[in-house]
Amino acid sequence: MENDSVCGKTKMDWVKEFPLLNSMILGDEVFWVNPHYTDKKVNQVPLGQKEIDDAEARLLRFAPYLAKAFPVTKAQKGLIESPLVFILQMQKFLEDWFMVNIPGKLLVKEDNLLPIAGSIKARGGIYEVLKHSEDLALENQLLAMQDDYSVLSSSYFKEFFAHYSIAVGSTGNLGLSIGIMSSKLGYQVCVHMSADAKQWKKDMLRSQGVQVLEYDSDYSRAVEEGRKIAQGDPNCYFIDDENSEDLFLGYAVAASGLKEQLEDMNVSVDKDHPLFVYLPCGVGGGPGGIAFGLKLIFGEYVHCFFAEPTHSPCMLLGLLTGLHNQAAVQDFGIDNQTEADGLAVGRPSGFVSRIMKNRLSGSYTVQDDVLYILLSALNESEHVQLEPSALAGMVGPVRLMQTKLGQDYLSTHNLMGKMKNATHIVWATGGSLVPREIMAEYIEKGNRLTQQNKNH
Ligand SMILES: *Cc1c(COP(=O)(O)O)cnc(C)c1O
Repeated sequence: MENDSVCGKTKMDWVKEFPLLNSMILGDEVFWVNPHYTDKKVNQVPLGQKEIDDAEARLLRFAPYLAKAFPVTKAQKGLIESPLVFILQMQKFLEDWFMVNIPGKLLVKEDNLLPIAGSIKARGGIYEVLKHSEDLALENQLLAMQDDYSVLSSSYFKEFFAHYSIAVGSTGNLGLSIGIMSSKLGYQVCVHMSADAKQWKKDMLRSQGVQVLEYDSDYSRAVEEGRKIAQGDPNCYFIDDENSEDLFLGYAVAASGLKEQLEDMNVSVDKDHPLFVYLPCGVGGGPGGIAFGLKLIFGEYVHCFFAEPTHSPCMLLGLLTGLHNQAAVQDFGIDNQTEADGLAVGRPSGFVSRIMKNRLSGSYTVQDDVLYILLSALNESEHVQLEPSALAGMVGPVRLMQTKLGQDYLSTHNLMGKMKNATHIVWATGGSLVPREIMAEYIEKGNRLTQQNKNH
């Protein structure tokens, strides 16, 4: 291994201490159970249900505005929510393809259908833009909290917000969410895009008048540059995906929505009915916020697992070694090159990884080819169309049931006898904005890989 030392230890020593690292460096798919996971003494954080409720109330205040500014949200009364659906055919596909029995019910949470941004970023990203806008309007005494916020769509407010700008660093979807929302309000927007960003995402933003700056390096650099440029301008607000509590809270609101949906569907979550949630992870804010909210509501009855590409296992690296955001996957010779652009992150959020330290049940990695195979299978079996990143959660139940570590986790937590009552939710994180011809290419590629691997 070239260039040896990472945070004061040689790579060899890191690997000796954490043998799983060796498999990660080799690019193997891995499954990891978090030894620090506990339902008892979780590390305290300055965020809790009160802050999440506050975020939810803010989204309610903005609902009349969103319903007016984005007529697609009218049917949902301006609330940004997504369907939760059973996927029995896909469950059968997984069982056949991976030759494993998956007891319990499998559902998909379709954040790919979230209005406005077509991805999980419609939660955190839009929330933070709205919060900042409310702050500005309140400070300038242009708005009171009991007002009907649909006034924000007036040309008066657009001219007001035009004096301000918003900036963000992104691999694509966060840029889309922030860009679309901010330009609708009237802001000038600048999105700093990493090299992984798909061309169509950049094109879509530019067509909406958003300034897109491109970098030939990865996500962490794009964020760093964006942060630096924004700092020089007092009227520029930088949305900091690596550190933002507001983004995190916007995501966390998802948990109470999910609880309601489960109740409406008569799906129990309790001592005898465990809930497993599988979340694709990039920098960590989205899955971290949602897992945080779910743990507050369901406590020890919910088990959250993160999913990352084999080439970008940044959160797993941070949690496994305890280095959090002090190390990037590249420090260990892992290249951060993946087709799953939404997950192409080499260094996790330190803020989120520290919150997840005791709350996350485990984590696993997936090869890009598997994402494509699942993409075409889900399209075929359930007519649900996702972008590659959004499939990472789909193998979660397979890994849980098929690995020795997964089985150990179930027996340690006394879950073995309860799995027939289990609910597995795969969080689908994006896809509905993908242009039709690009989705056709994804499906085609998935079909090809499926044929090639038929006799795996
Ligand atoms: C951003 C994103 C994620 C992960 O969210 P993070 O906050 O970066 O961890 C997952 N899937 C898709 C499609 C995304 O765009």
